[in-house]
Amino acid sequence: MCGILGYIGKEQVAPLLLKGLEKLEYRGYDSAGVAILDGERLNVTKTKGRLKVLSELLKQGKEIQGTVGIGHTRWATHGEPSDVNSHPHLSESGKFAVVHNGIIENYLHLRDFLADNGKKFLSETDSEVIAQLLEYYDTGDLLETVIKVKEKLEGSYALGIICRDNPDRIVAVRKDSPLIIGVGRGENFIASDITAIVSKTKTIIRLKDGEIAILEAENIKLYDKHKTELKKDISTIDWNISEAKKEGYEHFMFKEIMEQPKVIGDTISPRIRDEEIILDKINLSKEYLENINKIYIIGCGSAFHVGCIAKYIFEKLLRKSVEVDIASEFRYRDPIVNKDVLVIAISQSGETADTLAAVRESRKLGARVLSIVNVVGSSIANESDDVIYTWAGPEIAVATTKAFSTQLAIVYLLALYMSKKLGKIENKDYFEYIAELLSLSSKIETILKEKENIREFALDHYSTEDVFFIGRNLDYALSLEGSLKFKEISYIHSEAYAAGELKHGTISLIEKGTLVVAIAAQDALVEKMISNIKEVKARGARVLGITTQKNADIKKVCDFTFCIPEICNLLKPSLTLIPLQLLAYYVASERGCDIDKPRNLAKSVTVE
Ligand code: GLU
Repeated sequence: MCGILGYIGKEQVAPLLLKGLEKLEYRGYDSAGVAILDGERLNVTKTKGRLKVLSELLKQGKEIQGTVGIGHTRWATHGEPSDVNSHPHLSESGKFAVVHNGIIENYLHLRDFLADNGKKFLSETDSEVIAQLLEYYDTGDLLETVIKVKEKLEGSYALGIICRDNPDRIVAVRKDSPLIIGVGRGENFIASDITAIVSKTKTIIRLKDGEIAILEAENIKLYDKHKTELKKDISTIDWNISEAKKEGYEHFMFKEIMEQPKVIGDTISPRIRDEEIILDKINLSKEYLENINKIYIIGCGSAFHVGCIAKYIFEKLLRKSVEVDIASEFRYRDPIVNKDVLVIAISQSGETADTLAAVRESRKLGARVLSIVNVVGSSIANESDDVIYTWAGPEIAVATTKAFSTQLAIVYLLALYMSKKLGKIENKDYFEYIAELLSLSSKIETILKEKENIREFALDHYSTEDVFFIGRNLDYALSLEGSLKFKEISYIHSEAYAAGELKHGTISLIEKGTLVVAIAAQDALVEKMISNIKEVKARGARVLGITTQKNADIKKVCDFTFCIPEICNLLKPSLTLIPLQLLAYYVASERGCDIDKPRNLAKSVTVE
């Protein structure tokens, strides 16, 4: 979930780890630590709190010598955030140091076993068992020992291991939790995320599940569990370092909101050639599409909300039934999935643990899986039958903006592509939709130019305690995301409701001054929305309406109205989304919240 960084080379490692771990801060964490090898001495420094605290303890890294080390930012799953629960964990004699991302599901059993064999534990974490197991099964051969320990572990893990008796190497292993190797000249790296090493090297090896890597300064070797050496699959990343920097913006989230016209263009334009949607390498034949009887969309958090919007789009354009599910629910509820079902998995990182498990489950049940992900070569991308990448670039803010809008753009492309293949859409409509899709970037640009209006509204309402987001149809599906964005970064309670459902209970919560954000962009439903707005107004609510110029009648019933440019109804969520993102951002900013790293949240959720 959080961060791992390891280095072996010629540079002093402590300042290097501190700097690199900073790049992983965006993933969310509660404590941090490093283990550094100086000849045969293994020094561990770790602490609860921000990296600043660790950096002070280490005197900015100046006082600790050593050119081999591992570092970690922890997002606690087992045991409260505390100094002793922070990583790295040491084995009892201090011979092995381990950093771990993920969850060891059989840790209680392993802990009892080790305790029965005399091992003393210092922390409450699941991770400490790994360090203790390494010592328990130590054969004197590092690779052999790691293989033995790996066999005992159940759950998910990305591990960085160093050993006092092997001061010239780092071991990396993973299962269901991301870990990459950075290949340098006379130096090598391990990292849970490209951002930590992109300023040092762009040559990487994506470690696969079950592979064990032994890194030396000049050499990298990969092995399987039989100690057989494996071929290295080396690739180059085309990330620009500036993409992972704030570039003058106060927050990554704001920078990423402002990048949307560009990334929407990058995602859509290359896939439209001669007025035709071309999805390279996607293998969905007409015959296959005719045979499927259901589409299942799975995701978590905002990706799930993309699915909720996609349901309306696919059902309208394909006339096939669509079910949307939260990945963590899907996998445990015996879903009705077989070869006649197309599963679409959505994940920004491509590493979301529950979505990955749902992908595996779906394929086991015989379904074809198409994934929509942002990170090239990620686990979900690798394990799907088809992948469509969102070309959003690195998204650093925990609260997604540009990944969400590019996922939605892919949904439109895919739905139109399939509809055309199935002969369910008239040419005239198809071309009109394509023209509208191509206009999205400039229309988003227009909305962003009016951001001051949303900021002014936010300045007047940032101290509100409850917000309700309401809408109908596509506007309702989008309100789910509006509400999540708002609560996750501003810490204000908010809920999304289908506007027609409000009076079946929830309207009792509306009182004088309650803020209601009414999304009323679907032309055919504006009048119904006006009635719903009147109902909440009659109970004292203050209402922000989001609509189009054509439906400006809404102005008469709202306290404040924001109009998006005209576009066909189906594509409206791509535009109404923008004022909702801005509203969440400005309110959180006014409240002084930690916008890019909201409390308790992590960017890439690699644990269940
Ligand atoms: N499960 C481990 C712990 O709670 C690792 C959590 C993480 O991924 O940071 O310490």
